[in-house]
Amino acid sequence: MRLEGKVALVTGSSQGIGQGIVVRLAQEGADVVINYRSHPEGAEETLAKVQATGGKCYMAQCSKSQGYTIQADLGNINEIRQLIAESIAYFGKLDILVNNAGLEKHAPFWEVTEADYDAVMNVNLKGVFFTTQAFVQHLIATQRSGKIINISSVHEELSFPNFTAYCASKGGMKMLTRNLAVELGSFGITINNVAPGAIETPINIKLLNDPQKLGALLRNIPLGRLGQPQDVASLVAFLASSDADYVTGSTFFVDGGLLWNYQEQ
Ligand code: NAD
Repeated sequence: MRLEGKVALVTGSSQGIGQGIVVRLAQEGADVVINYRSHPEGAEETLAKVQATGGKCYMAQCSKSQGYTIQADLGNINEIRQLIAESIAYFGKLDILVNNAGLEKHAPFWEVTEADYDAVMNVNLKGVFFTTQAFVQHLIATQRSGKIINISSVHEELSFPNFTAYCASKGGMKMLTRNLAVELGSFGITINNVAPGAIETPINIKLLNDPQKLGALLRNIPLGRLGQPQDVASLVAFLASSDADYVTGSTFFVDGGLLWNYQEQ
């Protein structure tokens, strides 16, 4: 129950890693805001999982701690500000922000369209920038500390041909985190990146359905398996807790050792 009394917003939490993070934070006692863009049924599924977390403490504060879902497109600054304002209006405050929403588009560099570039950068970098800004404005206005956790990727370090905009967005996220660790430290606000390797979620559906590519990838992962959303969520829970009060500006890889054993497919 490390997060009792805390309120967390997890962006893009209607499926995949975001859903796993919300459930884990709720299990640790946090009240949670679930954000989705276009799949209310996914957000409802996340909410049901939060409600099923059981746990003595969760049941004790059941009326307050049921989670709350908000639709917002994180490529749109007005919707980002609305998301933060609504979260604060509902729970009275925010303590933890997890910038999880993200997407990737596959194309050789010379064929990438402006629309696809914008789609990736607007959510993965600009969206993270302004969601974090709105969260920090709230913390400064209420004179409270807080924790920001960005879901980055091994591709903030590793090349990924045909996904150049995605790699640029995650590389940008790395410097955003380092810079803000310095700029926000005196406010008691920490910021860290969690960088997954290959996690079994809908973003990897094509890979999961391609036995040859999947086999080659698995041979590259020293721990011999894909990661699960829970593998990412447990690290996020630690970084969101007071156990990590002295940790800021760093990237933590959750990749089964992939980063140190990577060979191009
Ligand atoms: P996913 O596709 O299952 O989930 C992505 C989530 O982001 C979805 O809920 C989606 O609705 C949301 N999203 C996308 N665009 C949005 C927008 N405009 N507004 C609001 N929400 C939006 O993928 P995932 O694997 O769960 O990915 C979560 C994060 O983890 C992403 O940032 C991704 O880059 C990162 N990541 C994933 C892996 C992996 O192997 N699965 C590896 C490294 C990093």
